[in-house]
Amino acid sequence: MVLCKIEILAFAVLVFYIPIAHSWGIDGHLIVCKLAQARLSEAAEDAVSQLLPAYAENDLGSLCSWADRVKFRYHWSSPLHYLNTPDNLCNYQYNRDCKDEDGIQDRCVAGAINNYTTQLLSYRDTSSTYNLTEALLFLSHFMGDIHQPLHVGFTSDKGANTIDVHWYKRKTNLHHVWDNSIIETAEETFYNTEVDELISALDKNITTVWSHQAKAWEACRKTSCPDVYASEGIKAACDWAYKGVEEDSVLGDDYFLSRRPVVNLRLAQGGVRLAATLNRIFG
Ligand SMILES: [Zn+2]
Repeated sequence: MVLCKIEILAFAVLVFYIPIAHSWGIDGHLIVCKLAQARLSEAAEDAVSQLLPAYAENDLGSLCSWADRVKFRYHWSSPLHYLNTPDNLCNYQYNRDCKDEDGIQDRCVAGAINNYTTQLLSYRDTSSTYNLTEALLFLSHFMGDIHQPLHVGFTSDKGANTIDVHWYKRKTNLHHVWDNSIIETAEETFYNTEVDELISALDKNITTVWSHQAKAWEACRKTSCPDVYASEGIKAACDWAYKGVEEDSVLGDDYFLSRRPVVNLRLAQGGVRLAATLNRIFG
């Protein structure tokens, strides 16, 4: 077989370009946004439908992974999907931790949530020069990311991206397990491989078994409270994600079944809090 130059180039890109994941997978973000959109006040629902592009057909979930797709065009946005804390401390402090790899303050997922919240608060200001459609899509995405425990992870392993593990028989890394594998295996095992069935189950739990907690999840004295979510995130990372895992660990039923409730909780909290934040912004 003779490969032309373009094919060789494409092959090289495929082989050598292995991006570091920085996000819940598509389903994780879809779940957070679907749970949120169902909980919007009338004012927030109206604002969201005004801000979404027409092709989204008023479905916030369909654009919840937009921020991942533009990461390479908007190169500056890459560090906004996560934050790193000092190894093994298991706590988070905004001033210490919210910066990018060049040390520029506020360039992390918590800073981005604050920034896009502030931008969206200018929604009724006719002289606002912000792109509020992009602000809505970034905020909705980053509210999901900050609830993925390993998006608030340790510095040296890049949020567990450099910890290679086996998910059952497949080789992957620990970050990817939390972005994708736990959700996908749950869908396959319990929900007929249908993300909508998982969303319905979480939605039902929010209004029944979690109804009291869900009120507390919403609480925030400001418009958005990313520091609370980041602190919970690094605690969950230490208590559940990193716990008992080493390089080349084989993660199977024990890990899956004990961590699945944590993933479910974080997805539900992300959805409830995104709705509460949008309701406060547009309310
Ligand atoms: Zn992301």
